[in-house]
Amino acid sequence: MNKLNFDLHNHTSASDGVLSSEELVALAARNGCDALAITDHDTVSGIAAGALAAARLGLKFIPGVEISVTWSPAGDVDARETTIHIVGLGIDVANAALVQGLASVRGGRIARGREIARLLVEAGQPDVFDDAFQFAENKEMLGRTHFARALVARGIVPDIAAAFKRFLTPGNPGYVPFRWASLSDAVKWIHAAGGVAVIAHPARYRLDSSDMDKLFAEFRALGGEGVEVVTGSHDPSEYAPVARRAKAHGLFASRGADFHAAHETPKEPGTLPTLADVDRDLKPVWGLLEPVPGQPQQNGGAVH
Ligand code: AMP
Ligand code: MN
Ligand code: MN
Ligand code: MN
Repeated sequence: MNKLNFDLHNHTSASDGVLSSEELVALAARNGCDALAITDHDTVSGIAAGALAAARLGLKFIPGVEISVTWSPAGDVDARETTIHIVGLGIDVANAALVQGLASVRGGRIARGREIARLLVEAGQPDVFDDAFQFAENKEMLGRTHFARALVARGIVPDIAAAFKRFLTPGNPGYVPFRWASLSDAVKWIHAAGGVAVIAHPARYRLDSSDMDKLFAEFRALGGEGVEVVTGSHDPSEYAPVARRAKAHGLFASRGADFHAAHETPKEPGTLPTLADVDRDLKPVWGLLEPVPGQPQQNGGAVH
């Protein structure tokens, strides 16, 4: 079961990906995925079209979301607070708690975008707010990736990695600190919607080993189920250490490309190593989702 080609983290133009839901589903099918999840940032507006397209192609589809969270290893939110991402899988996208929660998280994105643009101007760059807003197909979901694309289009930086490195990450002139959802609210909304909660790309967070253990333990105590091990947002050298930590904390493992765009993301959906390639003892998080056709069930049914 951990050899299956499930790809459970991908973006569409409903957030900061560039493909429509239909295009993303077609790409996953071409790449031989056994199942695909769409997990846009703080919105489920790409799910209905994705489900329809997947049904047409006979591809198993998992409705998902990637929730922006502000978390601090110190307990109370303080100067050490950092942004982390929590993926929800197998969610009911009509659930009121989830829908309202996501709307509240999206709420400040335009004002934050204005502030990013203002800081960039202050740093001597042109005003790229309108360009970034153009890149955001879903106007509620203006994000840093759209600013990165605007800076590339203006020739200010060679690629989006450079835009983040020079301008858009903490300590750089276009970074605006922002308060997202709490970890406990994100897990609550996902569970209220019948889904499974997964820590996205843990190796990307600037946490030392002890704070990472704190995050995993707190997430587990809140009822969180899984963690991404194999992701396009990890370097392959990070798979094994994350796998060990997942097992130590009794968390299920997930796999997903974190696909945004062909020239931006290292791997397309369905093309990363499988969980079994990394560690045969990992328990795939899809064992907690609805039964996979043709596969024995791992845990005997629902988890909530
Ligand atoms: P936002 O939610 O607006 O803060 O944007 C977060 C998104 O920015 C992430 O989901 C990534 O797609 C992108 N991102 C963050 N850091 C980087 C980076 N260093 N290089 C490339 N993309 C990044
Ligand atoms: Mn993104
Ligand atoms: Mn993320
Ligand atoms: Mn993502």
